[in-house]
Amino acid sequence: ISWSVDAGWHDAEVLPYGPLQVDPASSVLHYGQEIFEGLKAYRRPDGSIVTFRADANARRLNTSADRLALPELPEELFVAAVNELLHVDADWVPSGEDQSLYLRPFMIADESFLGVRAAQKARFLIIASPAGAYFTGGVKPVSIWLSKDLARAGRGGTGAAKCGGNYASSLLPTRIAAANGCAQVLFTDSATEDTIDELGGMNLFIVRADGTLITPRTNGNILDGITRSSLIRLAEARGHRVEERDVTVREWREGVADGSITEAFACGTAAVITPIQALIGEEGTLLDFGAGAPGELTMSLREELTGIQFGTVADPFGWVTEVVPA
Ligand code: PMP
Repeated sequence: ISWSVDAGWHDAEVLPYGPLQVDPASSVLHYGQEIFEGLKAYRRPDGSIVTFRADANARRLNTSADRLALPELPEELFVAAVNELLHVDADWVPSGEDQSLYLRPFMIADESFLGVRAAQKARFLIIASPAGAYFTGGVKPVSIWLSKDLARAGRGGTGAAKCGGNYASSLLPTRIAAANGCAQVLFTDSATEDTIDELGGMNLFIVRADGTLITPRTNGNILDGITRSSLIRLAEARGHRVEERDVTVREWREGVADGSITEAFACGTAAVITPIQALIGEEGTLLDFGAGAPGELTMSLREELTGIQFGTVADPFGWVTEVVPA
């Protein structure tokens, strides 16, 4: 679907997958005016196809659009586009536990000029790809790498938006993390270097021995993860206390050392929940849960959330929407 300042959103269409025509002077190629979303569609055991909180993705896209000076897309247009694609591509939604169709909605500025200003034209597209189980052979705890010198975003920057530029800046630290045997990079606030923000592509939770969950607050610098907000509600519904606040690497290390922090996990649409075993930095291992990972609460939250998504556990929150009937 296309947008221009004069005509608004117009000309929605479903096309076979193929290359895009983009003018070499198109502003997205030069100034990175691009935002995206990620969500999954699941096939329930009865054959019907459902989405999980697509309305939340629609709202987050608009938060990103505002920050990147792109046009807002009405929430109902976003949801209608997702649903239309799922009807056309219903056969591509795999069945079976841990299988899904990953949907990638994205918006690009698309006006040809060379001056630096917000584009007057944009396009919104959705592509899709079947996604298999994130973990094969059981959920495995991972190590994560503390990035000291390289930041993903700074205060007042685009950290809270889901824009390509944030990922461009996280690619090098992620490569360094991988070279050090770590699955993800942990970013801290670039001003304090110790207040935890988030991982390269996931939010972080820390679990105390008393059952309290701690997660960095949405401070304008981190992505407001939909998995994160779902887990906060799930945990609170179970009677857990959840603290959304500043949390430092130091507090995390000391808590693990004295036994008051017993689990940690990362969360996001791709893997839902990934247990964290260790935090590694330039100086070596900073903390290690060892045989304590994955933790019990980590795994039971994971089971409940994936159960809701796959339709095997009741959904008291109204998060799951049937799009294509059985
Ligand atoms: N933070 C970042 C930087 C991410 O890329 C993602 C994945 N979209 C998340 C957090 C988790 O967000 P969600 O639960 O909405 O997938």
